[in-house]
Amino acid sequence: MNLDSLPIVAIATAPGRGGIGVVRISGKNLGNVAAEICALVPGKTLQPRHATYTRFVDADGSTIDQGLALYFKAPHSYTGEDVLELQGHGGPVVMQLLLARCLQAGSNIDLRLAQPGEFTQRAFLNDKLDLAQAEAVADLIDASTEAAARSASQSLSGVFSGIIRTLVEQVTNLRMLVEATLDFPEEEIDFLEKSDARGKLAVIRDTLQKVFRQSAQGALLRDGLNIVLAGQPNVGKSSLLNALAGADIAIVTPIAGTTRDKVTETIQIEGIPLNIIDTAGIRDVAEAIDEVERIGIERTWTAVAQADVIIHLLDACRGPTLADENIVARFPANIPVMRVWNKIDLSGHKPAIDRLVDATHIYLSATNQLGMELLREELLRLAGWQQTGESLYLARERHLVALAAAQTHLQLAAEHAALSDHALDLFAEELRLAQEQLSSITGAFTPDDLLGVIFSRFCIGK
Ligand code: GDP
Repeated sequence: MNLDSLPIVAIATAPGRGGIGVVRISGKNLGNVAAEICALVPGKTLQPRHATYTRFVDADGSTIDQGLALYFKAPHSYTGEDVLELQGHGGPVVMQLLLARCLQAGSNIDLRLAQPGEFTQRAFLNDKLDLAQAEAVADLIDASTEAAARSASQSLSGVFSGIIRTLVEQVTNLRMLVEATLDFPEEEIDFLEKSDARGKLAVIRDTLQKVFRQSAQGALLRDGLNIVLAGQPNVGKSSLLNALAGADIAIVTPIAGTTRDKVTETIQIEGIPLNIIDTAGIRDVAEAIDEVERIGIERTWTAVAQADVIIHLLDACRGPTLADENIVARFPANIPVMRVWNKIDLSGHKPAIDRLVDATHIYLSATNQLGMELLREELLRLAGWQQTGESLYLARERHLVALAAAQTHLQLAAEHAALSDHALDLFAEELRLAQEQLSSITGAFTPDDLLGVIFSRFCIGK
């Protein structure tokens, strides 16, 4: 990732047609670029934080578009640098023209195209956001359910970062106490008792445990559960999807690539996204019509291999067919299978869940809404979801790993503190390691290559 500090520009709005489109520039001293593009009379500048209705002009003075120019003077901007936002009409061609014009007008200050996430990266580097907040920006944009969006928005406002910082502070205070004592070895013996170091550590560990639980649950809101839906035509796969989703269809954004490789539907239960891969899309690679479809099928199998659970849907009136067994036989052996017997309104079975050795069997009717709660509960159970009513943090895997590592270090610290010879130096060292892990969440101790990975996953213009 390029970490130079040259001014950057990008189209900030999503590609396609829209009411408005925004081109955004961030850098130092953008006043002249703004004046040139907006054809300001000599000596006049854009007033910071005021919307100015203006023409956007080409180098020859012809009008490209007209709209609003917004100027934010450093440091009072998203990135902490000067930011110029040009709001024009949201057509792909006019936006490209405006972008090209910005590059041209900014060529003398080496204005260049922004890389993905570079605006937010600058916001991070200029202390406008910490790392967890910057990640929340991407999570808010990518949120596929309302619960995920709300949780991301909370993290963006700094709630999660605030909790982490408080923990870091508590660990640091304890560490300072211990390290001060290290300088006076004759007092070591009394230290733990006098300062109640063990009690303080226990309080920190309790808080950390709670934060981990809220984050692990929040991570479910972000990542959800990957489910493979297998079954013969007409067993009721579409009906089951609709019944599961109810009114809670998740907002699914089109995934880049061809439409033919998209066999995933996302629904939600209690705000948890369930990504359902429909095996109707999996034909034999040999039968695929062309290369694009063949690649699509291969991708689907890759996705299947990463699934958390397989729902094998069957018609309760008919029982399993050979074709069913053939599909299921091709699934990886390590993915748990749930056998769901549909249409019990016709077969006369009662709604039930039966945990047998081969699989969990559930009897239900999708269209008559019988036994649906058994399936919902089982899916949430498999996802590890517990309804606690606590607020949740939309944590990423990276955060969970750091929180878990911090927990381990604090546990080791507690073990050292419990020893009769009070290994205070080891106690202090474990506190330092825990502090480092926690700080990596907000970005205080985060290597540059990790930063590059995090920001490169953003969209361009953010
Ligand atoms: P798919 O091909 O597997 O997606 O199956 P559909 O969801 O399209 O369902 C096939 C047919 O079975 C439709 O006519 C549905 O109305 C019917 N069906 C689905 N579930 C049930 C059910 O629980 N009971 C009854 N009686 N019919 C159902």
